[in-house]
Amino acid sequence: MSQELFQENLQKISPLLAELAKSPIQHCINGNWVDASNGETFTNHSPIDESVIGEVSAGTTEDIDKACNAAAEAFETWAAMPGKQRRELLHSIADAIEANAEAIALTESWDTGQPLRFMSKAAIRGAENYRFFADMAPNAREGRSLPAQQHMNYSVRQPIGPVGIITPWNTPFMLSTWKIAPALAAGCTVVHKPAEWSPCTAAMLVKIMHEAGLPAGVVNTVQGIGEVAGKALTEHEAIKAIAFVGESRTGSEIMKQGADSLKRVHFELGGKNPVIVFDDANLERALDAVVFMIYSLNGERCTSSSRLLIQKSIAAEFVEKVRQRVAALKVGHPLNPETEVGPLIHEKHRDKVSSYFDIAKQDGATIAIGGKTTDLDGNGCFVEPTLFTDASNSMRISQEEIFGPVLTAIEFEDEAEAVEIANGVRYGLAGYVWTGDSGRSIRLGRGLDVGMVWINSENNRHLPSPFGGMKASGIGRDGGDYSFDFYMETKNICIATNDHSIPKLAKN
Ligand code: NAD
Repeated sequence: MSQELFQENLQKISPLLAELAKSPIQHCINGNWVDASNGETFTNHSPIDESVIGEVSAGTTEDIDKACNAAAEAFETWAAMPGKQRRELLHSIADAIEANAEAIALTESWDTGQPLRFMSKAAIRGAENYRFFADMAPNAREGRSLPAQQHMNYSVRQPIGPVGIITPWNTPFMLSTWKIAPALAAGCTVVHKPAEWSPCTAAMLVKIMHEAGLPAGVVNTVQGIGEVAGKALTEHEAIKAIAFVGESRTGSEIMKQGADSLKRVHFELGGKNPVIVFDDANLERALDAVVFMIYSLNGERCTSSSRLLIQKSIAAEFVEKVRQRVAALKVGHPLNPETEVGPLIHEKHRDKVSSYFDIAKQDGATIAIGGKTTDLDGNGCFVEPTLFTDASNSMRISQEEIFGPVLTAIEFEDEAEAVEIANGVRYGLAGYVWTGDSGRSIRLGRGLDVGMVWINSENNRHLPSPFGGMKASGIGRDGGDYSFDFYMETKNICIATNDHSIPKLAKN
């Protein structure tokens, strides 16, 4: 049955690939599809078999300038549109995403190597992002009533202006919608610069938005290289804020680039997230979550639990069970519905991930399973799902974001040591805790220096909750009203309620 579905998926994707191969993926600026100003393109490959998907317009500073000017021009009208009207439009976009969900999922799988079993949900989640923020649009401007003795203070919010959104290649469709939907609901216009390794579904998204009725200039998508198109976007005077998802190092570059124009920034960056398993936990459930949270999405996930902190008393048995599960993971073609782990995004990323196999050995860790690159019929950017044991927290495999299906297991004696190891990295995105002790779960909830803690759970999405990281993992929070705090300015209005005394200067 799964073989039949696999063949069906291959048949379904072939017309989509034929379309992508025909002409370069263009920018969408002011509602028009255009080539790069100098006509240059770059080639996009599939990580499955390294075949060429097609050419992509390589955005220039001039292209970014045009896109930013279009976003600036469209801003006044878009910001003035009643929230209820914006709500209807954003729901229409969600409808259109749902109608195209299969094509989006297949294309995303082919472009990024992510297994279809996860990508089919990513498109639906993208639609959910639009619906959630659509319903918040009518009340986005609301503020607070802050009465004083002789004055009435009240706050209102207004959209900050045109914003730049820069996204990475892991789950690019879902992440783009997570940023673009709240910006639009808030009344901002957008210039989107997708990652150069995953350009396809960004082009689909902007096409869908326009077909659903989005006015020209409200969202402009410029494809291209980060250091060129992305940089120009972060430096452009018309852009008031940059929402960025990507590596911590790039976040730091963007902060420098945006300094002259005093950009507001929101950063969702890297992670080296611990999953801490205590001996009093439900170990069967913990095992499921440990395996899922690092080996799903090819481990190319900011919230992946890439460090397993395991209590010494149960370490040997639990780690052996993890090893057995890792050995049984189904690595293969992402369009095969059975596949659990697909190829990594790009050969450069495969090389980066696999470089840690030698680093682990040099540092004295053991490769309990995996630790090799692999392929599909001689092709593709695959690595074997890998488990490192005998590791200490000071090793590079414990400190650096590897961003692949690679788990480092570290043993701890007691709660205090677990917290010390968990916090002993430069990152602070997420933490996962497995324990049967409710007091301990509260203590760890407080004690972990991370933006999000999941207790006895895998990463569970809840759109109103704050999402983001501490330390090198980010600045700011997304989700619910937190997103509006970024995309909007808060303004206080103060009205005197009586003839209160005003200090008099230069009056005899
Ligand atoms: P990256 O930082 O290399 O690239 C991200 C984007 O930034 C791309 O569009 C790229 O073209 C652009 N870019 C690169 N240099 C730039 C510059 N100088 N100026 C402006 N833009 C520039 O990241 P990546 O490799 O695409 O993505 C993987 C990273 O993203 C991982 O570190 C991962 O943890 C992180 N991530 C974080 C979250 C989160 O929510 N915290 C979510 C997903 C991914």
